Amino acid sequence: MNRVATRRVRFTRRDALKLLSAGGAVGAGAAVGGAGLVHARERDVANECRLCTMHCGFIGTVRGDDVVAVRGDVDSNTKGFLCQHGLSIPEIVHNRARVRRPLVRAADETAFAEAEWERALDVAAQKLLAVKDKYGPEAIAVQTGWPFVRHPMIHLLHRFCRALGTPNLATVASLCEASARMGKGLVWGANYSPDMAKVRTLAVWGSNPMRSYPPWLSLVAQVKKRGKLIIIDPTRTELADQADEYLQVIPGTDATLALGMLRHVIENDLYDKALVAEHALGFEELRAQALPYTPDVVAKTCGVQPGQVTRVAEWLATVGPPGVWEGLGIEHHGAGVDTVRLVSSLVALCGGAAAQSFHDRKAPDGAPLPLLLPVDQQEPAPPAPDKRPVGFDEYALFCSIHRQAQASVLPRAMLEGKPYPVRALVLFGCNPVVTTPDAAAVKRAYQSLDALVVVDPFLTESGEYADVVLPAATFAEQPPLRFGKPKDQEPSDPPVGAVVEPQARARPDARILAELAERLGIGQYFPWTDIQAAFAVKRGAVVDEWAAERLRAAPERPAGARYPTASGKLELSSTLLPRFGLPSLPVVVEPPAPTAEHPLRLVTGPRQRAYINSQLHKVGAITRLLPEAQCELHPDAARAAGVAHGERVAVVTPMGRAVFRASLTTTVRVDVVVVPHGWDGDSNANLLTSETGLDPISGFPRLRALICRVEKASVTS
Ligand code: SF4
Repeated sequence: MNRVATRRVRFTRRDALKLLSAGGAVGAGAAVGGAGLVHARERDVANECRLCTMHCGFIGTVRGDDVVAVRGDVDSNTKGFLCQHGLSIPEIVHNRARVRRPLVRAADETAFAEAEWERALDVAAQKLLAVKDKYGPEAIAVQTGWPFVRHPMIHLLHRFCRALGTPNLATVASLCEASARMGKGLVWGANYSPDMAKVRTLAVWGSNPMRSYPPWLSLVAQVKKRGKLIIIDPTRTELADQADEYLQVIPGTDATLALGMLRHVIENDLYDKALVAEHALGFEELRAQALPYTPDVVAKTCGVQPGQVTRVAEWLATVGPPGVWEGLGIEHHGAGVDTVRLVSSLVALCGGAAAQSFHDRKAPDGAPLPLLLPVDQQEPAPPAPDKRPVGFDEYALFCSIHRQAQASVLPRAMLEGKPYPVRALVLFGCNPVVTTPDAAAVKRAYQSLDALVVVDPFLTESGEYADVVLPAATFAEQPPLRFGKPKDQEPSDPPVGAVVEPQARARPDARILAELAERLGIGQYFPWTDIQAAFAVKRGAVVDEWAAERLRAAPERPAGARYPTASGKLELSSTLLPRFGLPSLPVVVEPPAPTAEHPLRLVTGPRQRAYINSQLHKVGAITRLLPEAQCELHPDAARAAGVAHGERVAVVTPMGRAVFRASLTTTVRVDVVVVPHGWDGDSNANLLTSETGLDPISGFPRLRALICRVEKASVTS
């Protein structure tokens, strides 16, 4: 008989046998109470929280088979920090909502039936092979988020797709992180972030680190002591109260604001002239582009004061090395990559180079640019697929850099067969019904598929459309990857490893992948059943010519050039984008103007304090903090719409309708409504968004520059 996954701490017969087998040397640690409760011997195990990119080290305390507590590991990179999400790990591991056994949809398609692993894997493989035989391997797509996989697993999923012959791996890069990386890489040739030890003027632009990077906050406080802190956000975030200047910008107007600051810096001779003279390309073109963006024009478009534009520009250029911590708030618009390029150009012209830490800046002359993210493969690497990924026709730069499909247009390939049919999907730890624009279309697409296989610890809304659901272990049930463990393990330290065994019948994701691969006839590429063994094997960077050909350095690029761009210069005007049929100068796309039918502006997606995107919505310790999705709106806007605080309201856009609990607050602009993402059912923010109007460079969805109206939930839209 199988173990029960959600068993809480209690004394069992097996515990008694364990204690007895310990020779009775249990002593006071195993007192038997009158009610039969026994404190089994506890042990500590070190691991890494993988709920977000901070990867905080933690120590789990295990009693019997249960994780009973976690605490931050003071010897880890994050020095003992653990947020409320990390503290909920015991409840994640032992959650009653976990998928406990593989599920296979019944023949009449009405319900799931539990199945043994062998059968579930066989059914999944048969369905995928049937699609491959009928439509070709490119008709199979694989998509992943970040919950329990993260980047090392993405390499294995790349390998899986290559071995299968499909180019269609889609990841969280389709709507997170990648757009900023592309924008900064296009200007500087490399990704970077502000070096918080050096920056003296910091603009936090469209980001709320209080919620997305909590351990980073102490560094912000240090910058504030040294120089200036500027917050630019449509919502008065917690940090705004500590800022030297807060710009409550109209959502989607960030490019205009950046151009206004560039104009002020350039026309007042505040820019780094040596940089421009020796190392920059396109300065005069950018200057001409910025010229019309006077403080008054910018103030009117962006909803800020003219003096704020000039003051912040001067601080960035004169107080000390500047840095900008930009977030998705400036990327989920009609032209997010170009907005990042403008912000990046502003940082450069204000002398910011000395205060940035660069990532992946290592392109030898003539090699593909570092923009091309390495896809490391264990040797031998499978051959490259014949077809290009879905999205390549419109977003070739994105697809080339990442060797991925653009997830926002995958549903179109499923529904319309464009550019070719996608008939099967394997989801590894992601919930696209909730995270992809136009949720209604995503649901229709999933209903239309020949095969949907879902690998996840929980049954998600996407999983409800699946043919097969395979229960995955969480990170706490596997040894950590620990690529960044900062110190040697001392004998007295807790052992590093899986805190507990996989619960119920869950299996680690890497093992599931290997078992699927075996059945799909590509097992020779997956001789390992765990990710540690896979990453112990020698790997080499795989460069596909189709992806690299348009990213190579220009023949005239000087040897030893300072910037690893195609020209070797800081590219204020891109030499790379025209190779993809895109304009060399940044394009400004203003947000749609409110109308009589939709009089308010809508921002979807800022992270809530309680949740991490679509994760943790089944974890009681977290859902108790915020049981319902809340829509934030200004009291004046609520009055105009005839709704009250705490009332159920419908937010209606040209795309659809979603329902939230009204939360009236003066922290949002009077003309802006803010709704969270990550909720399923009728509170799914992507019922309000569209697959049209994607960023022309990255294909990122336009999630934060929409128009809407608010009405009582009882009113039919
Ligand atoms: S969720 Fe919290 S504890 Fe986990 S890695 Fe992120 S910041 Fe650290």
